Amino acid sequence: MKTPLTGLFPDEIAATLDVKPYQGAQLFRWIHQKRIVDFDAMSDLSKALRARLAAAFTASQLTLDTIRESEATGTRKALLRLPDGDAVECVLIRDRDRITLCLSSQAGCPLRCAFCATGAAGYRRNLDAGEIVEQALWLLRDEDLSGRTPNIVYMGMGEPFYNYDAVLKSIRLIMHPQGLHIGARKITVSTAGDIKGIERFAEEDWQVRLSVSLHAANNELRSRLVPLNKRYPVERLRAALQRYQKRCGRQVTLEWVLLDGVNDSACDADELAAFARGLDVAVNLIPWNPVPELPFAPSPPARCQAFQAVLRERGITATIRKEKGQDIEAACGQLRGNGGACAT
Ligand code: SAH
Repeated sequence: MKTPLTGLFPDEIAATLDVKPYQGAQLFRWIHQKRIVDFDAMSDLSKALRARLAAAFTASQLTLDTIRESEATGTRKALLRLPDGDAVECVLIRDRDRITLCLSSQAGCPLRCAFCATGAAGYRRNLDAGEIVEQALWLLRDEDLSGRTPNIVYMGMGEPFYNYDAVLKSIRLIMHPQGLHIGARKITVSTAGDIKGIERFAEEDWQVRLSVSLHAANNELRSRLVPLNKRYPVERLRAALQRYQKRCGRQVTLEWVLLDGVNDSACDADELAAFARGLDVAVNLIPWNPVPELPFAPSPPARCQAFQAVLRERGITATIRKEKGQDIEAACGQLRGNGGACAT
């Protein structure tokens, strides 16, 4: 199998190939900035080096399995095949001029949140940094960014903090000035509430955003929806967020998937408001994206608005997310790793 170069910094590329540092940087720019995968097209590299690269290395270990594009919104979902045959999904979302890339951190997910298609399909393995960053490179390959910088969200398949080191390296690769050069504030990591990960994340010297998938603010309900809550209950999660903000001062987004009759009452909103009190948070309300085999329904729009109103009355910033991609099963929680064919 050829050695992938996509998960390496310029100096690591130079060391791997035993070439000069500037050549490592040249290759890094071709791969990350120009998003070229064919070594032969890397015109400022010597012919000998290009031949050596083509024989034993690769700038693209992921291959396209299926792509679906929503005519309504321009959202694109790609199922990419990993070298060992597993697959991951990633999504490009358009909102007017803005582009957001939703990346997977694991093939499948071990968390088994009750309402999520990815968890229902099971867990296969962690991705390495190259496999994560390549999703972004792949999605942007034919994209004319014309000066726009995409946002990156780690909200695809998997729990990013269960794959901490690879996710971190992928962020640094994405931020690299000679690569995609995306600013920390445009990058969001979403966790289901892994406290160990939150603690490590607080120590990172950067402005990358943290989002926590809360969905319920009492232990009985949250443990049913997010089984990880049995390990890290609500009080401990809240205390961890307090420490996080004390340490690094960054605002946290709380995500709340609105499930009809489950967590969308005024009382649920009150519990959320109590959780949020004393924290610097913004709440992102997500109407549930249907997964046919799961026993939930999305909250009706009026209830979503009423829920939002309760939070606003309590002085909490809350927005209702507009979903883009339901028609191609590319919305949050609809990634099951089979490109969109029904599991049943
Ligand atoms: N494991 C991480 C990141 C992946 S999920 C986490 O839990 O945060 C990204 C977001 O999508 C989470 O907030 C998750 O709870 C939400 N989600 C999962 N299934 C969904 C669905 N069917 N509809 C809407 N949002 C969903």
